[in-house]
Amino acid sequence: MLLDHYIASCLGNAQYYTQSELKVGSVLADKIRGRIQLSEANVQELGFNLFWLSSKLWAGQFLQGSASGTTISLDTTNARQKPGYIGDFHTHPYEKKMGGGAKLPFSNGDLVEYFDKPPLHQPISLHFVASSDQLYLIVFRGTPPAEPDFTVTTPEVVRLNEHMMNNDKLSTAYMKADSLTGMAKWAAMKKAWENHAPQAAAEFAEDTLRMNLDLANHHGYEFYMGSLAGTGEVTLTLQSRYVYCSTVTRVFSTMGEAYEAQRRAGPITLM
Ligand SMILES: [Zn+2]
Repeated sequence: MLLDHYIASCLGNAQYYTQSELKVGSVLADKIRGRIQLSEANVQELGFNLFWLSSKLWAGQFLQGSASGTTISLDTTNARQKPGYIGDFHTHPYEKKMGGGAKLPFSNGDLVEYFDKPPLHQPISLHFVASSDQLYLIVFRGTPPAEPDFTVTTPEVVRLNEHMMNNDKLSTAYMKADSLTGMAKWAAMKKAWENHAPQAAAEFAEDTLRMNLDLANHHGYEFYMGSLAGTGEVTLTLQSRYVYCSTVTRVFSTMGEAYEAQRRAGPITLM
Protein backbone atom coordinates (compact mmCIF):
# COMPACT_ATOMS: atom_id res chain seq x y z
CA MET A 1 0.00 0.00 0.00
CA LEU A 2 1.24 3.50 -0.81
CA LEU A 3 2.32 5.35 2.32
CA ASP A 4 0.06 8.32 1.48
CA HIS A 5 -2.96 5.98 1.31
CA TYR A 6 -1.93 4.36 4.57
CA ILE A 7 -1.69 7.71 6.38
CA ALA A 8 -5.09 8.76 5.02
CA SER A 9 -6.55 5.40 6.14
CA CYS A 10 -5.06 5.68 9.66
CA LEU A 11 -6.34 9.25 10.01
CA GLY A 12 -9.81 8.07 8.92
CA ASN A 13 -9.79 5.00 11.18
CA ALA A 14 -7.53 5.04 14.26
CA GLN A 15 -7.49 1.20 14.32
CA TYR A 16 -6.77 0.71 10.63
CA TYR A 17 -4.83 -2.54 10.17
CA THR A 18 -1.04 -2.32 10.25
CA GLN A 19 0.31 -3.09 6.77
CA SER A 20 3.07 -5.66 6.29
CA GLU A 21 4.40 -3.59 3.40
CA LEU A 22 4.38 0.15 2.64
CA LYS A 23 5.53 1.89 -0.51
CA VAL A 24 7.16 5.32 -0.35
CA GLY A 25 6.22 7.22 -3.54
CA SER A 26 9.01 8.02 -6.01
CA VAL A 27 9.01 11.81 -5.43
CA LEU A 28 9.68 11.50 -1.69
CA ALA A 29 11.94 8.44 -2.21
CA ASP A 30 14.16 10.36 -4.64
CA LYS A 31 14.37 13.31 -2.23
CA ILE A 32 15.51 10.88 0.46
CA ARG A 33 18.06 9.28 -1.92
CA GLY A 34 19.46 12.71 -2.82
CA ARG A 35 19.89 13.62 0.87
CA ILE A 36 21.53 10.36 1.98
CA GLN A 37 23.97 10.34 -0.95
CA LEU A 38 25.08 13.90 -0.21
CA SER A 39 25.14 13.15 3.51
CA GLU A 40 27.37 10.06 3.16
CA ALA A 41 29.67 11.93 0.75
CA ASN A 42 30.20 14.86 3.15
CA VAL A 43 29.71 13.02 6.47
CA GLN A 44 27.11 15.52 7.60
CA GLU A 45 23.61 14.73 8.85
CA LEU A 46 20.85 16.15 6.63
CA GLY A 47 17.09 16.12 7.00
CA PHE A 48 13.69 17.74 6.59
CA ASN A 49 10.36 17.86 8.34
CA LEU A 50 7.26 16.15 6.93
CA PHE A 51 3.86 17.74 6.48
CA TRP A 52 0.47 16.22 5.74
CA LEU A 53 -1.35 18.63 3.42
CA SER A 54 -4.14 17.96 0.89
CA SER A 55 -4.00 14.20 1.70
CA LYS A 56 -0.36 14.00 0.70
CA LEU A 57 3.00 13.77 2.47
CA TRP A 58 5.28 16.74 1.71
CA ALA A 59 8.93 17.38 2.51
CA GLY A 60 9.70 20.70 4.22
CA GLN A 61 12.79 22.77 3.64
CA PHE A 62 16.16 21.00 3.68
CA LEU A 63 18.00 21.20 7.02
CA GLN A 64 21.63 20.40 7.74
CA GLY A 65 23.39 19.21 10.85
CA SER A 66 26.60 20.10 12.59
CA ALA A 67 29.93 19.94 10.75
CA SER A 68 31.00 17.26 13.24
CA GLY A 69 28.80 14.83 11.33
CA THR A 70 27.04 13.44 14.38
CA THR A 71 23.99 15.61 15.10
CA ILE A 72 21.17 17.55 13.46
CA SER A 73 18.46 19.80 14.84
CA LEU A 74 15.18 19.34 13.00
CA ASP A 75 13.64 22.43 14.65
CA THR A 76 10.91 20.17 16.08
CA THR A 77 9.85 22.58 18.83
CA ASN A 78 8.73 25.10 16.19
CA ALA A 79 7.73 22.70 13.43
CA ARG A 80 5.32 20.73 15.62
CA GLN A 81 3.22 23.88 16.17
CA LYS A 82 2.27 23.88 12.46
CA PRO A 83 -1.07 22.21 11.65
CA GLY A 84 0.32 19.93 8.91
CA TYR A 85 3.45 18.78 10.78
CA ILE A 86 3.47 14.97 11.02
CA GLY A 87 7.13 14.00 11.53
CA ASP A 88 10.55 14.15 9.93
CA PHE A 89 13.43 12.54 8.07
CA HIS A 90 17.17 12.62 8.73
CA THR A 91 20.33 10.75 7.78
CA HIS A 92 22.92 8.67 9.64
CA PRO A 93 26.09 8.85 7.51
CA TYR A 94 28.49 6.16 8.74
CA GLU A 95 30.04 4.73 5.54
CA LYS A 96 33.10 6.97 5.80
CA LYS A 97 33.23 6.95 9.62
CA MET A 98 32.94 3.21 10.28
CA GLY A 99 32.52 1.40 6.97
CA GLY A 100 29.69 0.04 4.86
CA GLY A 101 28.43 -2.36 7.55
CA ALA A 102 27.30 0.49 9.82
CA LYS A 103 23.70 0.93 8.67
CA LEU A 104 22.04 2.56 11.61
CA PRO A 105 18.35 3.07 12.35
CA PHE A 106 17.03 5.42 15.05
CA SER A 107 19.41 6.30 17.89
CA ASN A 108 18.57 6.51 21.56
CA GLY A 109 18.58 10.34 21.22
CA ASP A 110 16.29 10.28 18.16
CA LEU A 111 13.71 8.19 20.02
CA VAL A 112 13.79 10.41 23.11
CA GLU A 113 13.04 13.40 20.85
CA TYR A 114 10.16 11.65 19.02
CA PHE A 115 8.53 10.56 22.28
CA ASP A 116 9.02 13.96 23.87
CA LYS A 117 7.83 16.15 20.98
CA PRO A 118 5.05 14.52 18.95
CA PRO A 119 3.02 16.60 16.45
CA LEU A 120 0.60 18.93 18.21
CA HIS A 121 -2.10 18.81 15.52
CA GLN A 122 -1.91 15.27 14.07
CA PRO A 123 -2.92 12.08 15.93
CA ILE A 124 -0.19 9.93 14.35
CA SER A 125 3.46 10.59 13.53
CA LEU A 126 6.11 9.29 11.13
CA HIS A 127 9.88 9.39 11.37
CA PHE A 128 12.36 8.26 8.71
CA VAL A 129 16.09 7.63 8.98
CA ALA A 130 18.32 6.74 6.02
CA SER A 131 21.75 5.20 6.50
CA SER A 132 23.85 3.97 3.57
CA ASP A 133 21.35 2.15 1.29
CA GLN A 134 18.79 1.45 4.04
CA LEU A 135 15.63 3.35 4.88
CA TYR A 136 13.89 2.98 8.25
CA LEU A 137 10.43 4.22 9.22
CA ILE A 138 8.60 4.50 12.53
CA VAL A 139 4.84 5.05 12.62
CA PHE A 140 3.30 6.03 15.95
CA ARG A 141 -0.39 5.10 15.77
CA GLY A 142 -1.26 7.58 18.50
CA THR A 143 0.59 9.90 20.85
CA PRO A 144 3.62 8.09 22.33
CA PRO A 145 4.27 8.13 26.10
CA ALA A 146 6.52 10.93 27.39
CA GLU A 147 9.67 8.87 27.11
CA PRO A 148 10.89 5.51 25.81
CA ASP A 149 11.41 2.76 28.40
CA PHE A 150 15.01 1.76 27.77
CA THR A 151 14.87 -0.84 30.56
CA VAL A 152 13.22 -3.26 28.08
CA THR A 153 16.28 -3.35 25.86
CA THR A 154 20.09 -3.27 25.69
CA PRO A 155 21.68 0.09 24.87
CA GLU A 156 22.90 0.26 21.28
CA VAL A 157 26.43 1.27 22.33
CA VAL A 158 27.18 -1.58 24.76
CA ARG A 159 29.46 -3.60 22.49
CA LEU A 160 30.82 -0.45 20.83
CA ASN A 161 31.93 0.93 24.20
CA GLU A 162 33.40 -2.42 25.21
CA HIS A 163 35.68 -2.33 22.18
CA MET A 164 36.74 1.20 23.02
CA MET A 165 37.43 0.37 26.68
CA ASN A 166 39.12 -3.00 26.23
CA ASN A 167 41.20 -2.46 23.11
CA ASP A 168 44.13 -0.09 23.62
CA LYS A 169 45.18 -0.24 19.97
CA LEU A 170 41.71 0.86 18.89
CA SER A 171 41.39 3.65 21.48
CA THR A 172 44.86 5.02 20.66
CA ALA A 173 44.19 5.05 16.91
CA TYR A 174 40.74 6.52 17.49
CA MET A 175 42.03 9.36 19.69
CA LYS A 176 44.70 10.14 17.13
CA ALA A 177 42.00 10.27 14.41
CA ASP A 178 39.82 12.49 16.57
CA SER A 179 42.56 15.13 16.70
CA LEU A 180 42.43 15.49 12.89
CA THR A 181 39.91 17.62 10.99
CA GLY A 182 37.77 17.33 7.86
CA MET A 183 37.61 14.18 5.76
CA ALA A 184 41.05 13.04 7.02
CA LYS A 185 39.48 12.57 10.45
CA TRP A 186 36.73 10.25 9.14
CA ALA A 187 39.21 8.27 7.02
CA ALA A 188 41.46 7.74 10.06
CA MET A 189 38.52 6.73 12.26
CA LYS A 190 37.29 4.22 9.71
CA LYS A 191 40.80 2.78 9.49
CA ALA A 192 40.99 2.52 13.29
CA TRP A 193 37.77 0.47 13.39
CA GLU A 194 38.72 -1.68 10.40
CA ASN A 195 42.22 -2.43 11.69
CA HIS A 196 41.48 -3.01 15.36
CA ALA A 197 37.80 -4.01 15.67
CA PRO A 198 36.58 -5.03 12.21
CA GLN A 199 33.37 -6.54 13.59
CA ALA A 200 32.35 -3.38 15.52
CA ALA A 201 30.44 -1.68 12.67
CA ALA A 202 28.20 -4.70 12.08
CA GLU A 203 27.70 -5.20 15.84
CA PHE A 204 26.74 -1.55 16.31
CA ALA A 205 24.19 -1.85 13.48
CA GLU A 206 22.84 -5.10 14.96
CA ASP A 207 22.54 -3.66 18.48
CA THR A 208 20.82 -0.50 17.22
CA LEU A 209 18.34 -2.59 15.23
CA ARG A 210 17.65 -4.79 18.26
CA MET A 211 17.00 -1.73 20.45
CA ASN A 212 14.58 -0.36 17.83
CA LEU A 213 12.66 -3.64 17.61
CA ASP A 214 12.45 -4.07 21.37
CA LEU A 215 11.13 -0.55 21.89
CA ALA A 216 8.65 -0.76 18.98
CA ASN A 217 7.23 -4.02 20.34
CA HIS A 218 7.16 -2.80 23.92
CA HIS A 219 5.47 0.53 23.20
CA GLY A 220 3.29 -0.72 20.33
CA TYR A 221 4.43 1.33 17.38
CA GLU A 222 5.34 0.23 13.86
CA PHE A 223 8.93 -0.16 12.65
CA TYR A 224 9.65 -0.74 8.94
CA MET A 225 12.78 -1.03 6.86
CA GLY A 226 13.68 -1.33 3.18
CA SER A 227 16.36 -0.76 0.57
CA LEU A 228 17.02 2.54 -1.19
CA ALA A 229 18.95 0.80 -3.98
CA GLY A 230 17.74 1.60 -7.48
CA THR A 231 15.29 4.34 -8.42
CA GLY A 232 11.58 5.04 -8.02
CA GLU A 233 9.39 3.96 -5.12
CA VAL A 234 10.84 2.22 -2.06
CA THR A 235 9.20 -0.82 -0.49
CA LEU A 236 9.36 -0.98 3.30
CA THR A 237 8.66 -4.20 5.21
CA LEU A 238 7.25 -4.38 8.74
CA GLN A 239 9.86 -5.58 11.27
CA SER A 240 7.93 -5.06 14.51
CA ARG A 241 4.70 -6.70 15.63
CA TYR A 242 1.37 -5.60 14.17
CA VAL A 243 -0.20 -2.80 16.20
CA TYR A 244 -3.68 -3.30 14.71
CA CYS A 245 -4.58 -6.40 12.73
CA SER A 246 -7.30 -8.96 12.07
CA THR A 247 -7.94 -11.59 14.77
CA VAL A 248 -6.45 -14.25 12.49
CA THR A 249 -3.21 -12.28 12.02
CA ARG A 250 -3.05 -11.69 15.79
CA VAL A 251 -3.28 -15.41 16.58
CA PHE A 252 -0.46 -16.28 14.17
CA SER A 253 1.62 -13.28 15.22
CA THR A 254 1.36 -14.40 18.87
CA MET A 255 2.26 -18.00 17.94
CA GLY A 256 5.30 -16.69 16.07
CA GLU A 257 6.40 -14.66 19.10
CA ALA A 258 6.04 -17.65 21.42
CA TYR A 259 8.09 -19.78 19.04
CA GLU A 260 10.75 -17.07 18.75
CA ALA A 261 10.98 -16.67 22.56
CA GLN A 262 11.34 -20.43 22.96
CA ARG A 263 13.97 -20.59 20.21
CA ARG A 264 16.02 -17.92 21.95
CA ALA A 265 15.69 -19.70 25.32
CA GLY A 266 17.18 -22.93 24.03
CA PRO A 267 16.51 -26.09 22.01
CA ILE A 268 12.89 -26.69 21.13
CA THR A 269 11.30 -30.00 22.06
CA LEU A 270 8.97 -31.08 19.29
CA MET A 271 5.77 -32.71 20.49
ZN1 LIG B 1 19.58 10.34 14.36
